[in-house]
Amino acid sequence: MTGRLTGRTAIITAAGQGIGRAAALACAREGAQVIATDIDDAKLDALAAASGIVRRRLDVLDADAIRRFAADVQAPDILFNCAGFVHAGSILDCDDDAFDFSFALNVRAMYRMIRAILPGMLERRRGSIINMASVASSVIAVPNRFAYGASKAAVIGLTKSVALDYVTHGIRANAICPGTVDSPSLQDRMRAQGDYETARAGFLARQPMGRLGTPEEIGELVVFLASDDSAFMTGNAVVVDGGWSNA
Ligand code: NAD
Repeated sequence: MTGRLTGRTAIITAAGQGIGRAAALACAREGAQVIATDIDDAKLDALAAASGIVRRRLDVLDADAIRRFAADVQAPDILFNCAGFVHAGSILDCDDDAFDFSFALNVRAMYRMIRAILPGMLERRRGSIINMASVASSVIAVPNRFAYGASKAAVIGLTKSVALDYVTHGIRANAICPGTVDSPSLQDRMRAQGDYETARAGFLARQPMGRLGTPEEIGELVVFLASDDSAFMTGNAVVVDGGWSNA
């Protein structure tokens, strides 16, 4: 059976859990040859065991590792840059280390991945780059998400720039801007607040739909942006937030 991504190779960062994992499974289901990457070997092993997806350890904070990885990958068609980190707090809660880490993981890693993978796409004049932003970015401000919102806004700018520069070369680049998605790291953040139920109620209260998104819902959007179904889309920041930014 042919799927929407049959014959395509998809690289996914932070595929060990949450949205990256769901996207890896969705792309594989649509026929892509998925290369799932993460820093967590156990999570990659679990994904590979459950799906047969190819797994590769890759720390996207390590420039040399990215170069080695890119030299090894044959004919990439799809790059989903999913890795990211949520720093909680206002500008006065953010020091240089927190600011630098947020930009290193959320933005610079993405820039390095694209620089490394794009030449292979240009050789074949075919590629879809999908970058994980957030609705907490230039779309809306979210309380106590200073470094996160600033770095995710940068992702949207980075995406638009790449999209414009390569629009005539067969390359598309789009950003995804989810609202709150029920991923393992969100569960961790809710537990870390001390009172899990109150924390969950707080996250739910800002969702007009009265529920959180699922990683699978974002995975379906990744498939759409990776496939030719979205062939007329590039430079877009696609919001998928249960109506949060519309409230
Ligand atoms: P998560 O935080 O649950 O999982 C993150 C994965 O990233 C883990 O498997 C971890 O091992 C891996 N990782 C961490 N550092 C890494 C590194 N240096 N190199 C490679 N992998 C690394 O994932 P999630 O909550 O699904 O979030 C994924 C992305 O989606 C992030 O960029 C996040 O900012 C964004 N996002 C999430 C939400 C949400 O509510 N969950 C909403 C909007 C945007």
